[in-house]
Amino acid sequence: MKNGQKLKTAHYRKMLESKAEEVRHSLSAQKAAQVVSRLDVPSDEGDLSQQHHEEWIFLNRNTIDMKLLREISDALHRIDHDTYGICPECEEAISTKRLDAVPWARFCVTCQEMIANRIADGEIMEYEEA
Ligand SMILES: [Zn+2]
Repeated sequence: MKNGQKLKTAHYRKMLESKAEEVRHSLSAQKAAQVVSRLDVPSDEGDLSQQHHEEWIFLNRNTIDMKLLREISDALHRIDHDTYGICPECEEAISTKRLDAVPWARFCVTCQEMIANRIADGEIMEYEEA
């Protein structure tokens, strides 16, 4: 570890694991809610479009949760490989303030913004390891 700065990875591992647990719980709760709502057969067109709308929100939320789960598992993987807390783009340490707020953060704020801009410009679809 450079700079002689030793990150308390055990602390972040705990945060990541409890967050993953929380997301999994929310996913199964949503799934259960959806099954229940399917039992109500819509009586008219108004209800039907309302149901479609709810399904859309459900799918959308699920996608975000699945993406978050993937990011959390990537972060845990980085802890295992001692690369946690190091930005792969500029190789600088990510501030603990940022990690405390977003423990699954992969990049420092500067690189994160740069990558977000490149994605917004249509330059890249998603960040890929060089
Ligand atoms: Zn960086």
